[in-house]
Amino acid sequence: MGHKSWLGLLLLLFTTLPTGGIALADGETSPARDPKQPIDEAYTAKIRKYTTAPYFSSPLVDYLPASKTVPTPEVVLGDVAGAPGILPYAEDVYKYMRLLEKATPRVKVVSIGTTEEGREMIAVAVSSEANLKNLEQNRQRLAKLADPRSIHLDDAEADKLVAESVPVYYITGTIHSPETGAPTALMELAYRLAVDESPYVREIRDGVITLITPVVEVDGRDRMVDIYKWHLAHPKDFYPPLIYWGKYVAHDNNRDAMGMTLKLTQNVLNTYLGWNAQVLHDLHESVPYLYDNTVGDGPYNAWMDPILVDEWQMIGARNVADMTKFGMPGVFTHGDFDTWSPGYLMFLAAMHNGISRLYETFGNGGADTRVRTLEPGEYGRTWFRPNPPLPKTAWSQRNNNNYEETGLLTSLHYFNENKRLFLKNFYLKGKRSIQKPTAEGPAAYVLPADDPRATVQTDLLRVMLKQHVEISRATSSFQVNLPVKKEKKAARSADSEEKPKPVSPTTRDFPAGSYVIRMDQPYSRVADALLDYQFWSPEDPQTTPYDDTAWTFGELFGVQVTRVTDSKVLSVPMERVAELRSLGGVQGEGSVFAIDNHAEPALATLRYRLKDTPIDAAEEPFESNGHKFSRGTFLIRGVGRSDLDAATNALGLNAVALASAPVVKTHPVRAPRIAYVHTWISTQSEGWWRLALDNLQIPYDYMSTQALAKIPDLNAKYDVILFPPVTGNANSNAIVQGTPTAWGNALPWLNTPETPNLVGKNDSTPDMRPGLGWDGVAKLQSFVRNGGVLLTATDTSQLAISIGLANGVTSSTSEKMKIVGSIVGTRLVDAASPIAYGYDEKVSAYCDNGPIFSVASILGSRRRRLGPEMNTRPTGRGTKDDPDFVIGRPAFDIPDEPEKELWEAPQPTDEQSFNNPRVIPPANRARVILRYADSKDLLISGLVENGNDIAQHPAVLDVPNGSGHVILFSINPVYRGETENTYSLVLNTLLNFDSLNAGRKQADTK
Ligand SMILES: [Zn+2]
Repeated sequence: MGHKSWLGLLLLLFTTLPTGGIALADGETSPARDPKQPIDEAYTAKIRKYTTAPYFSSPLVDYLPASKTVPTPEVVLGDVAGAPGILPYAEDVYKYMRLLEKATPRVKVVSIGTTEEGREMIAVAVSSEANLKNLEQNRQRLAKLADPRSIHLDDAEADKLVAESVPVYYITGTIHSPETGAPTALMELAYRLAVDESPYVREIRDGVITLITPVVEVDGRDRMVDIYKWHLAHPKDFYPPLIYWGKYVAHDNNRDAMGMTLKLTQNVLNTYLGWNAQVLHDLHESVPYLYDNTVGDGPYNAWMDPILVDEWQMIGARNVADMTKFGMPGVFTHGDFDTWSPGYLMFLAAMHNGISRLYETFGNGGADTRVRTLEPGEYGRTWFRPNPPLPKTAWSQRNNNNYEETGLLTSLHYFNENKRLFLKNFYLKGKRSIQKPTAEGPAAYVLPADDPRATVQTDLLRVMLKQHVEISRATSSFQVNLPVKKEKKAARSADSEEKPKPVSPTTRDFPAGSYVIRMDQPYSRVADALLDYQFWSPEDPQTTPYDDTAWTFGELFGVQVTRVTDSKVLSVPMERVAELRSLGGVQGEGSVFAIDNHAEPALATLRYRLKDTPIDAAEEPFESNGHKFSRGTFLIRGVGRSDLDAATNALGLNAVALASAPVVKTHPVRAPRIAYVHTWISTQSEGWWRLALDNLQIPYDYMSTQALAKIPDLNAKYDVILFPPVTGNANSNAIVQGTPTAWGNALPWLNTPETPNLVGKNDSTPDMRPGLGWDGVAKLQSFVRNGGVLLTATDTSQLAISIGLANGVTSSTSEKMKIVGSIVGTRLVDAASPIAYGYDEKVSAYCDNGPIFSVASILGSRRRRLGPEMNTRPTGRGTKDDPDFVIGRPAFDIPDEPEKELWEAPQPTDEQSFNNPRVIPPANRARVILRYADSKDLLISGLVENGNDIAQHPAVLDVPNGSGHVILFSINPVYRGETENTYSLVLNTLLNFDSLNAGRKQADTK
């Protein structure tokens, strides 16, 4: 975003553009204006003025047709679309779209929902009068093609519908707020589609319904426009980076198409499916000049229909060809974006039998015209980019709008020419989704009725409902055959000539009430993709995964999901589930109520909801009234049965009334006062934590590192400081120092007349630059020493270690290791720790090259995995296992090396302990709660390469410090609304903040 000096560039501007001259195949419509329709001369002149070179435009957009009745974008913008210095707020964009709707029957605007901050989202339909008049009949036809069950998978009937239907092409703009060009491009595109009488545009208008959401991230758009206005008012200053986009999430708003946690994702999917659209085309701006990254690179998502890959190639190749013929440089469709993860907004279409598309055009992060100098990798000629972008050129927002509109118009035209094919494909993809059980399988996924984590199971199923997946519930118990795992052929060996014994098929029984997600439904594809396992080969030619390599929801939520290939599951009696409710409440008689602990996040919600009721946690498992209860079970007294019944019922938790209090050691479970800390470097990773806490209704004070440093006595106000990850790998020095203040100007994040939307419901500061500072470091140190609990993860854990808060813990990274957004196995080491309450021995967790922790009992020493050479005996007499001895004297016993597992701190030897003040007393040593699994068990889903570097190392640590604790996470327990399995590691820390030493081994606490 650096400095800008665009005024001088006006010298470079061209004022004339060539016209015509496009070679056409027989019967193709010329992409040129209708000479009989007058143009808007003034508007056209400005388009040409703001375009920095003639080849950055095309015959489709280098003029604007005139209309006597329909207003151009100029009436709202005060200038043409893409003009320098002009970025409209969302409401200005909407105002224009509604003016269009008023002026022409070819435009219809609908509201599609609101954002987290209450701003409206809209969709604008542009098509012929006739098409818009017949929307409902057309929608009904498309709905039948979308769900081929409705026409009994009858291809002839489908052909009739295909012949009669008008397809819907859905375009979404500016989900990424600093990518600012799309709204004006889409305003002008709507005008052109409504007004232009050239045969080329008329064909689109008559043949296709173009649906446009001009602003997807509305909250972020308004903040971005504020910042740009601030920049215009202070042209010589640095302007603040866009630290918040939406209320919770920044760039990751385009990674929510799996978890469906954000309103914008839900609103776009509901619109996409509500209109039965065939294409979802999402506009971005980070690559010169137009990268149609739909085709991208491998590996492709393994759950989508190969028909879709053909469609990508068809539309992408034609797009490049058309724009290349216009003489526009830098248009290509193959590149380094892999299409593995289905988390991108456009993938809502790919996973729902449509066509996903995405443009990266070139944006300036605002409406300034700037000289842009590219990297060799960007302007270099390659096999997939024979006509690359220019190494250096003046670039304007108008150029960007020209590329976006030209790309979209050529796409729409090609789509219209081939709409029968694409509509038939739309039907075929739906049909093939329904045929999944008999084609590639599986037949269904089953989630058993007796899963002990019922509330989390419900949360997972709610994601499926948001994805419009049909869920059924078995009305009786049933049994299925599980597939026989093929034995790997044993290596040929002279010792074993025996044939492997045949393995008999295994079966599994499911109780009545189990959830069945049938694969014979139109949206089976998305359920299959989310519930299945991923494997990314370390040998894959793609060496830099673009995003996460795994997302297996059953593992990340920690609920049982069985992939069933046995098709008889489909004939089990079952009924459709319209609404999900996990039923809770109180059973039994008595005045002490027990709620078993299965690490369900709802327990924390209950603790805060019953804020005046004493709750204790059992420190050991116990039995009562024939029930077995696990460690951490809530014991509740002094609450009315009906109150508890209402509270547990609402949350889906089950309480058991006991006749008498069980004989078991307990400690109070309290609702801590939480300081929640963010930086002014990035709010991306912490935003997901904030969203999770808000959904769980857990209150906290949200503050920056700057604000934390100014609180005189943190212990007086807070019990726990939550410091979620900054970026995952933010440098500790950057967190402490912030951005340099020795030069430059203050970067305010405040509401002012120029920036009325910046703060929203988040945080503010007069200057974003200062970090935690050394005062803040000292505050954190004394907070912990005086009994506070500091919870950190990934990069904030590294910060805690680097500022001396975690004695005996070191952190390192590995150059060789690649765990790229994968799901890994971890193992419970200390089940008696309150942090582990409710967890079983094996815990699946999300890891993205997490820091490699090691614990030691001597300060400054570090554990290393011993190589095999360390275990061999020295050269000498005898066989490999014999003792050696020295000639002329009796053999001595060699003292045993202290044997400790890799995740443990070895006891100091006598030699090490002699007069050594650096030996950490047992009570001050780190307590290992979870460790990474052994190397062979590390990979659950995704990519793990050289995992041996982190295998067995601690994954979650509780480090005592003074009378407080520092909790360190190498995994990221709260991520993208997908990792509910590990939420309770954080929530348990909160609720047991003043009893974290519970269950600690006696020897350690001396
Ligand atoms: Zn983007």
